[in-house]
Amino acid sequence: MSRWISGTLVRRRDWAPGLATFGIDCAIEDFEPGQFFNVALDVAGERCKRAYSAASAPGAELEFYVAQVSDGQFTPALFELPLGAPIQVDPVPQGFFTTSWLPPDATELWLLASGTGLGPFVSMLRAGQVFTQFERVIVAHCVRDASALGYEEELEQLARERACTYLPVVTRAAPGEFALAERFPRLLDDGSLESAAGVSLHQRSHVMLCGNPAMIADTTAALILRGLKKHRRRDPGHITVEKYW
Ligand SMILES: Cc1cc2nc3c(=O)[nH]c(=O)nc-3n(C[C@H](O)[C@H](O)[C@H](O)COP(=O)(O)OP(=O)(O)OC[C@H]3O[C@@H](n4cnc5c(N)ncnc54)[C@H](O)[C@@H]3O)c2cc1C
Repeated sequence: MSRWISGTLVRRRDWAPGLATFGIDCAIEDFEPGQFFNVALDVAGERCKRAYSAASAPGAELEFYVAQVSDGQFTPALFELPLGAPIQVDPVPQGFFTTSWLPPDATELWLLASGTGLGPFVSMLRAGQVFTQFERVIVAHCVRDASALGYEEELEQLARERACTYLPVVTRAAPGEFALAERFPRLLDDGSLESAAGVSLHQRSHVMLCGNPAMIADTTAALILRGLKKHRRRDPGHITVEKYW
């Protein structure tokens, strides 16, 4: 049951048409990177509620990375919202898509996102705890068009400074424009994701997948073929997922 508090939309960055980061000023409870918050707006006289993963680090202004769904209920109203407008937020963080649930002996963390599924990984990378928990972090972001590579400069900068590899994957790129231009399952099957990362998947790798459910299903299947298995608290494995729909 959500307990709403009123926040204010204070910042917005548009990455491409229908793709933006929203900054909200509101008194949320402390959260772990990877968790999400329920957010609500009144749309046509009815309260409409949706889940959004925090892209901000704990303690910073709450930030969400959002794609507009043109025939959706919530996002067209969100994208119309002017700066300074109120937005309802449940201050209690939700979810278990966090690195605190992962096996303690994992050495490399692979963060594979499609579209706005990158948001929780940005939170993890900004918070920085992943760099003490793992020897190396590989973040791969799959989008159709290069214009949808939100946070690209920040991730490139991070890759220069930390034990982090950033791999943009653009499936509709012009030939030769991006080294990785196929979906994750293909890149896993032919070994090109591991070659680009300079690291191989092994029994102490952990892979977190976030975004589109078809990407998650197909990539999980490809990882299982590589000898990895789903992670459960009582049955430790290598694959942890968050589906956006
Ligand atoms: C735990 C969790 C965390 C989430 N975090 C985020 C987030 O950080 N950023 C975000 O953009 N969305 C996120 N979502 C999805 C979000 O809750 C909404 O479903 C989405 O914004 C669409 O809302 P809508 O009312 O406009 O569309 P709806 O009327 O609810 O239509 C839903 C349809 O929109 C499509 N859709 C849903 N989400 C997306 C998306 N992200 N990109 C493209 N198509 C989509 C699917 O086809 C889905 O069936 C999250 C969902 C969950 C369950």
